[in-house]
Parts: sequence; C-alpha cells; structure tokens
Amino acid sequence: MRKTSILRLFLAAILLGGVWVAYTQQGRPPSVFKTNKITDDIYEIENVGSLASNVTVVVTDEGLVLVDAKFDPDHDGIMAQIKTFTNKPIKYVIDTHHHGDHTGGNAKMFGEGAQIISSEEARQNMVDAKMPGIPTLAFEKHTHIYLGGKNIALYHFGRSHTNGDTVVLIGAERVLASGDMYTQGADVPQLIDYAGGGSAKEWTTTLDSVLKLNFDTVIPGHGPVSKKADMVKFRQSTVEVRNRIHGLNVELNGQKKSPAEIRDAIGKVMMSEFHWGPLQMSRGLDGAIAELQ
Ligand SMILES: [Zn+2]
Repeated sequence: MRKTSILRLFLAAILLGGVWVAYTQQGRPPSVFKTNKITDDIYEIENVGSLASNVTVVVTDEGLVLVDAKFDPDHDGIMAQIKTFTNKPIKYVIDTHHHGDHTGGNAKMFGEGAQIISSEEARQNMVDAKMPGIPTLAFEKHTHIYLGGKNIALYHFGRSHTNGDTVVLIGAERVLASGDMYTQGADVPQLIDYAGGGSAKEWTTTLDSVLKLNFDTVIPGHGPVSKKADMVKFRQSTVEVRNRIHGLNVELNGQKKSPAEIRDAIGKVMMSEFHWGPLQMSRGLDGAIAELQ
C-alpha cells in the first residue's frame, strides 16, 4: 500500500514536469571529480567511482570551449577542476544533446559569460521540455567554432541516442567528443531515447558518418576515454541489437504471440545479452520493438 502511494506521488511529480527537472538536479549528493589530461590542450573531467557524464575542456589562448556541462549542482566541482589547469574564462559550451545530465549546468555557464550552442533539434527539445539554460546558438548539420587559433568542428549527422546528437572534433589533436552517441563499457549500454527522437535504425548509419572523420581518441558521453577502434566495436553492437530485436519480432509474431508476450521476451533478451538496465528498458524497448518489425 505504502509503496503504491509513494509511486503515485512520484508519478504525479513527473507529470508536473518542472518538478521532475528540480528532482533530477537537486536530489543527488555532490559528486567527486577528477581530471584526465588527454593532449596538451584537451582535458576530460569525470566522476570518481561513477559513470556519470563526462566534460571535455579545450584550452585556447583566448579562452575555453567545453563539451557538456553536467547537472546544475556539479557546477562548482567542474569549475574547481578547471582551475587546477587554467585560469582562462569559458567562452563556449557545446551541448551534445538535451538530456539534463549534459545540460543541467547551462544556466550557471551563462553566469560564467559563456555562449551555449547545440544542434537545432537538441535546442528545440530543451524548449519543448521547458528546461533551463536554453542554448543561444544552434546549427543544422555542421558548424565550426574558431577560438584562439583552434578549429573546433561540430557535426549533427542524424538520429542516434536522440534526434539532436552532436559530435565535436578537435581535428588538430585528432580527438572526438561523442556525447551519448557512443558510451564505453557494459555498464553504460546503448540507450535509445525514442521520446527524445532516438532511433536504433539510424544510429548505425549516423556512426558510419562519424567514423569517416579523422580522429584517434574518443571522449565518450559516459565511460572511460577510448580509441576509434572501440567506437568501431560499439557500432557493431548497434547492428547486433537491431538484428536481435528484428529476429525476435519475426520469430515471435510467427508464433502468434501477444504484444505483451513479445515485449516480455525481447526485454529479457536485451537485459541478459546486452546489459540493458531500467533506463534502456523504459526509454528504448517499446520504440525499438516498433521500429524493428
Ligand atoms: Zn543522454
């Protein structure tokens, strides 16, 4: 009984929308961060002991470009990490997509004097969800930030994790910041956010476009810094996910199973074979079954 009423309250809070954002931003303890030096001018800030989202920092003579800004309460921790290697101001923050664990810090980044940029789709998702810290700059397919002699290229190739994912190429250093289009490790499996415009089918072709870019090192949205070869493996796993769901759809429909039985059977396979957790299941399962008939 009690559990049910707590669940009802929780669902009511989600329906209130704004309350949900407040919960996800403030309902968590402060995180502990550490910084990894990737090249002379590129740093990655990650959480110690968790697979929360990563921040990439590009240092130029004229200021900093950040990729992603984590949650609002993470702001002071991010700034403290940055101060360990530079006193330069933050000029731009690139949002790889609209999710709160990448954009929750936007409002405070405006306070640092930064401009915030994302794809047009990611920005629209933030407007629709009435999220704080809406980007002031947006682009359709491809743009560049030129700052302090550095050329930072932004690409929006198509749908993957959402409909608005951007990858960021720092070409001179052959480093790519991928956002959640690529996550590294079995503990952060592929998350197809259909409500956010994601697509299992297009994910693979979007990655094919990314893999044509010239880079050696990838800073994933979540998980440890990796190599291009790891992204190639991840791309293969997006094919395996699609083939498995499509194959099961055909097989179970052929056996005249009910939609509930099909959902149950495919869900179990995704959890056991592809390590899908509650987030992957709630955001991705129904959409993937419908998309991969
Ligand atoms: Zn995300």
